[in-house]
Amino acid sequence: MTTATTLDALRDRLRPSARMPVVFLGHGSPMNALQDTAYSRAWRDLGATLPRPQAILVVSAHWMTKGTTLVDVSALPRTIHDFRNFPQALYEMTYPAPGAPDLARDVVSLLASHNSAEDDSWGLDHGSWAVLKFLYPEADVPVFQVSIDMSADLDHHIEIGRTLADLRKRGVLIMGSGNIVHNLRRMSPGAAPQDFAVAFDSFFADRLEARDHAALADRVAMGSLLPEAHPTVDHYLPALTIAGASGPDDDLTFMTDAIDLGSVSMRSFVFHGA
Ligand code: ZN
Repeated sequence: MTTATTLDALRDRLRPSARMPVVFLGHGSPMNALQDTAYSRAWRDLGATLPRPQAILVVSAHWMTKGTTLVDVSALPRTIHDFRNFPQALYEMTYPAPGAPDLARDVVSLLASHNSAEDDSWGLDHGSWAVLKFLYPEADVPVFQVSIDMSADLDHHIEIGRTLADLRKRGVLIMGSGNIVHNLRRMSPGAAPQDFAVAFDSFFADRLEARDHAALADRVAMGSLLPEAHPTVDHYLPALTIAGASGPDDDLTFMTDAIDLGSVSMRSFVFHGA
């Protein structure tokens, strides 16, 4: 396994593979959906670089459930505007991609040991559509979400990724959407990256490169750094699932590794290869 940084490196290194890459995107503010930013440009380039998927499975920080893992089986997932006090234009955006009901039902079976169940009420929250509208602007790739079980511990989410990894052979793009550091109480416009944010972001990148997934789920070893980086872990869990879906021979590429607003890591990564 090798590691590189930047989308240009990914473009050079991506080679034909029987397995789809797996992707984690730091989504940050919903305003990225409206504005031309370094992030939205990187997402557009990433969509043009990746092999075209048959379907996309999204694990978003914004679909939280307790004691169950829900899978959206709807034929036409609705666009959810799950944010307040943003410009009207954001509430008018839709992402009319079709769902993938048959595949979603297969995922319910695959995750049976994780209390999975079908759902047809959720749709696509902004963790999905605010990035997908750049990756696949035509909204012509079927997409469905899988919820995060907030009552399961961290290693459970790595295990879910391991289970989902089988789908990579079926042309499914598994995408996690959250943030590696996400402390909204400590953020402030224009602030320099705070020490705890840099420390956790670096720790995560270092352990991910080493494939030390156990360390990423070790609450005791992470100590106070974890609750500082994540007062609640919803934006962290999708990253663990994507780590779990990686294979030992995959290459790893980091993208957009900046810290916004002092306390939100926009670090994104792609596992790809063999
Ligand atoms: Zn979010």
